[in-house]
Order: sequence, then structure tokens, then C-alpha cells
Amino acid sequence: MVALHRARLHAMLIDAVGLGVVRTSSHVASFEQDRATVHVALTDRQRVKTELLVGADGLHSNVRAQLIGDGAPAYSGYTSWLAGYGKTAARETDCRLPSD
Ligand SMILES: Cc1cc2nc3c(=O)[nH]c(=O)nc-3n(C[C@H](O)[C@H](O)[C@H](O)COP(=O)(O)OP(=O)(O)OC[C@H]3O[C@@H](n4cnc5c(N)ncnc54)[C@H](O)[C@@H]3O)c2cc1C
Repeated sequence: MVALHRARLHAMLIDAVGLGVVRTSSHVASFEQDRATVHVALTDRQRVKTELLVGADGLHSNVRAQLIGDGAPAYSGYTSWLAGYGKTAARETDCRLPSD
């Protein structure tokens, strides 16, 4: 699992593809796809043509609803998971610790 601050993610994306390519506050309304292209309609009425659409839009995913359509999320019975992570292991995997 990788966890990072949203601002850090934005910076990494901008570094990789350049300023002006990364959009924020864009909401997917719907999409259509053919063999090579995904045509994405945003809620602000803009349209985006792309080779790949990754549906990472959360628990009430609009993309998943359109792609799979398996209904509203159902409670699994698990309210929370708790995990411990050793300081040595954190350093070995290049995690930043509060004392660093
Ligand atoms: C109060 C609270 C406390 C929590 N505490 C913890 C915790 O301590 N530890 C833990 O592990 N988990 C915690 N969770 C759960 C954790 O936040 C989620 O499991 C995790 O954020 C899910 O990640 P995700 O990327 O699937 O979705 P999200 O983090 O929900 O990200 C979805 C993103 O998609 C965007 N989006 C939504 N709809 C669209 C659309 N149509 N088009 C484009 N973008 C869209 C949203 O704006 C959002 O940025 C907590 C959740 C809550 C509500």
C-alpha cells in the first residue's frame, strides 16, 4: 500500500506530464469506449478523448457504476482495520517518519 499527501501526488503528476495537463476539480459524468479510445464526458460539459480511464473515484464510483453496474456498496461487517508497522521496516521501504 502506498499513502501520500494529495499535494505530493499532484507534484509528481505535474513533474511527469507537465503543467497544464493535470486537471483538478474535474468530475466524470459518463463515458463511452470503442476499441482504442475512451470518450469521457465531464460534469462541466467538457469532453476528453483518451486511451485509458482509471476509475479511482471512491466508494460511490460513477465509473464503476457505469462499467459494472453492480449496485450500491454493501457494508461488509468490517468497521476498521488496524495495522502496526515497524520503524526499521518503514525505513527500509523509504517511508518518512515524524522524527526524520
Ligand atoms: C472519516 C473517515 C476516516 C477514515 N479514516 C481512515 C483511516 O484512518 N485509515 C484508513 O485506512 N482509511 C480511513 N478511511 C477510509 C479511506 O478514506 C478510504 O478507504 C480511502 O480514501 C478510499 O480511497 P479511494 O481512492 O478508493 O477513494 P477516495 O479517497 O474517496 O477518492 C476518490 C476521489 O475521487 C473523486 N471523485 C468522486 N467522484 C468523481 C467523479 N465522478 N469524477 C472524478 N472524480 C471523482 C473524489 O473527489 C476523490 O478525490 C476513512 C474514511 C472516512 C470517511
